[in-house]
Amino acid sequence: MSAVFTFSTDDGHPSDMKMAELLGKNGLNGTFYIPITNREGLPVMCQSQILDVGRQFEIGSHTYDHCYLKNVGLVEANRQITEGKKRLEDLLGKPVAGFSYPGGKYREAHAAMVQSAGFEYARSSMNLCFDAGLSRFEIPTTIQFYPHTKAVYFRNFLKAGRWNKRADGLRLALQHNSWLERMYALFDHSCEQESVFHLWAHSVDINRINAWNDIDRFFGYVAKKVAVQNRLTNQQLASREYFI
Ligand SMILES: [Zn+2]
Repeated sequence: MSAVFTFSTDDGHPSDMKMAELLGKNGLNGTFYIPITNREGLPVMCQSQILDVGRQFEIGSHTYDHCYLKNVGLVEANRQITEGKKRLEDLLGKPVAGFSYPGGKYREAHAAMVQSAGFEYARSSMNLCFDAGLSRFEIPTTIQFYPHTKAVYFRNFLKAGRWNKRADGLRLALQHNSWLERMYALFDHSCEQESVFHLWAHSVDINRINAWNDIDRFFGYVAKKVAVQNRLTNQQLASREYFI
């Protein structure tokens, strides 16, 4: 037995190519959530790059143009969900099972739409969890690869709920002053508990904070501790019995 490791990255920035290279080098698995275009103006991988990443990793959808679903009406939200899925499926020539909510913002009605659109599961951005959550359409994460302050963790903890399940994660996050130490501590905890560790990231942030060596080192650390059969895509996590 060992921890279960899964990884996801959002937005389909061209630097996801580098992320795929580092995951592959370390023998890890993961899911890339990609919009067709990005309304915030950030570049998205071209079709041949998406196909390249999709040969080795799972591709999930992230709406048509990185739309925060709460900011639009239900008809437009539904178009964003269905059109983003269809365009990726046309490109990949196979079903797209996974979805992640841009900005982690959604209502219950959106989760129902994601399900009706034919997705098998959806990832939220709730953090500090060590399991696959309560619902396949709200799969939480453990930690974002980003130098958030302690105050951000605390605020997010209060706002997002599931306090009982997330208390260990918060305690560990608040114990460490360095954001990298915090990530290692949460991962070590999931190894001790043989629970789920879900790291997520934006490649563009890793460029901004110049942390490619740090994520590569962390992937190497994970690969030493997590059994090969426990290195999952988000879809594999969603299809197994890790829900509580
Ligand atoms: Zn996003």
